[in-house]
Amino acid sequence: MTDASRLTPGPAVTTGEHRRTAWSNWSGAVRGIADRLLAPGTTDQLREIVLDDTARAHGISVVGSGHSYANLVAPSGRTLIDLREHRGVVAVDPAAMTVTVKSGTTMRELNRELAAAGFALPNQSAIDEQTVAGAVATATHGSSPRQGTLSSHVVAARILTADGQVRTITQDDPELDGVRVHLGCLGVVLDLTFTIVPGHRLRKVVLRRSLPDVLAGLDEFREVHFGGFWWYPHTSQAIVWKAAPTNEPPTPSPGPPGALLSALCNNSWPPRAAGAAHYAAALAAGRGGAQVMRCDEALLHHLPPPVQGTEYSVPFERAADAIRALVREVRRGGLRVCAPVDVRFTAADTAWLSPSRQATTCHIGVTHPATARDPQRWVAPLRAVDSVLWEFEGRPHWAKVHSRTGQELAARYPEWDRFQDLRRAWDPDGVFLGSHLRELFER
Ligand SMILES: Cc1cc2nc3c(=O)[nH]c(=O)nc-3n(C[C@H](O)[C@H](O)[C@H](O)COP(=O)(O)OP(=O)(O)OC[C@H]3O[C@@H](n4cnc5c(N)ncnc54)[C@H](O)[C@@H]3O)c2cc1C
Repeated sequence: MTDASRLTPGPAVTTGEHRRTAWSNWSGAVRGIADRLLAPGTTDQLREIVLDDTARAHGISVVGSGHSYANLVAPSGRTLIDLREHRGVVAVDPAAMTVTVKSGTTMRELNRELAAAGFALPNQSAIDEQTVAGAVATATHGSSPRQGTLSSHVVAARILTADGQVRTITQDDPELDGVRVHLGCLGVVLDLTFTIVPGHRLRKVVLRRSLPDVLAGLDEFREVHFGGFWWYPHTSQAIVWKAAPTNEPPTPSPGPPGALLSALCNNSWPPRAAGAAHYAAALAAGRGGAQVMRCDEALLHHLPPPVQGTEYSVPFERAADAIRALVREVRRGGLRVCAPVDVRFTAADTAWLSPSRQATTCHIGVTHPATARDPQRWVAPLRAVDSVLWEFEGRPHWAKVHSRTGQELAARYPEWDRFQDLRRAWDPDGVFLGSHLRELFER
C-alpha cells in the first residue's frame, strides 16, 4: 500500500475537528467521552492524525469491535481511530498458504471469505465479532491443544508507528514475536498475514459428565483436535465437547437453542436457585448429540448477554487442581459465579506477551452479568476468581478484567522487558498508552 492509498471508502477526515464522542465497549462497563472519533480514509490521513500535536498530547487509541472487557481502549479524552471500514482480504496465497487481511476486518468476514476460497484459519475463538487486529492484540485463543493462539498464526504485519513510519514486520524480524500480541500500544496495525489451512468440516460431539470425572481424566484433552468443557457452577455437572475433522455432510443442530441455555445460566440468582437452573440447563445441553459443521462455525459459542469476564491461562499440569480450587471457593464463599465456567486448551507459542508462551495452557474463563450501575456486583466475584487462579502460575487474559500489577505480570513474562524496549523504541512518548496500560507498563 502506498502512502496515498485508501484505507477505507469512507469520508475524508480532518484532524482539526474535536467532537466529543461517547464510546463504550460491548459490555458497557468501559465507557468514556473521547475527544473525537475519526475514521481516516487513507494512510496519509492516518499519519496526519498520529502526528497531530493535540492527539499526541491527549493520547490515541485504535478501536476494534470493542469486545475487550479490560480498559485497553481507555476512551476518555483521547483521539479514537476506528478502522472498521478498513476491511477485506488483500490476498490469499495458496502456495505459501497465507492470507493477508486489512486490520479492521472482522473474524466473521475473514472466515467467510476464506471458506469461499476453500481455506480456513487453523483455529477460531468462541465468537467472530472481533476485528483481526483486535483479536491478535490480546492473544485471543481458540479451542485446540494442537494449535496456538490467533496471534501465533501471524506471519507478517504492517504497522504505522508513532513517528509516522509504516513498518513491515515479517518472520525474518525478531520483533514479530513482540508484535504478535501488541495490546494496541505499538502503533496502528494496518494489515496482518496469517497462515491458513485447507477448508474442512468438523464433527462436534457434546455430552454431559460429572466434573470430578472430567478432572480425573483431564489428560484426554491433550489429544483432541478441538474441545473443552463447561462446568455448571453450584452443581457437579460438566458439559464436554469435542470436535474432529470429518468428510461427512453438514447436519442441523440436534441440541437445545443456545438462547434457552443462556437464559437459564446468565443470572445472578442466589446459589441454590442458580444451582437448580444450572442443573436443568446441563440436562438439556447434555442431550446435544453430534453435529457436522463448517470448521469455523463449529467452534463458535452462543454469544451471551453483556457480561464482564475474567480468564486465566494456567499450565496444563496445574489445570485440574486450579479448577478444583475454584469449585472449593464457590462452595466455601457462596461465590455468585453465574454462567458456566468455560474451559479450553491452547498449544504453546512464542509471542513475548502470550499467556500461552512456552506452555500448553488451560484457559479458565468466568463471566458475570455486567451491571454498569452497580459494578461492585461483578467486581467482587471476579476478583475472588482472579485470586484463586493466580496461585496456579496463571497469566490473566489481556482483554479480560484482572487485578494484577505490572510488576506481578513482569515476573510471569520472561520477555516483558523486551516488549517494553520495543514499545519505547516505537512510541517513546507513550502516545498509544491508555490509562490501563500505563498503569501496567509505567508504574
Ligand atoms: C463474548 C466474548 C467472547 C470472547 N471469546 C474469546 C475467545 O474465545 N478467546 C479469547 O481469547 N478471547 C475471547 N474474547 C476476547 C476478545 O477476543 C478480545 O477482547 C479481542 O481483543 C476483541 O477484539 P476487538 O476487535 O473487539 O478489539 P477491541 O476490544 O476494540 O480492542 C482490543 C485492543 O486492540 C487494539 N486494536 C484494535 N484494532 C487495532 C489496530 N488496527 N491497530 C492497533 N491496535 C488495535 C485496541 O486499541 C485495544 O488495545 C471474547 C470476548 C467476548 C466479549
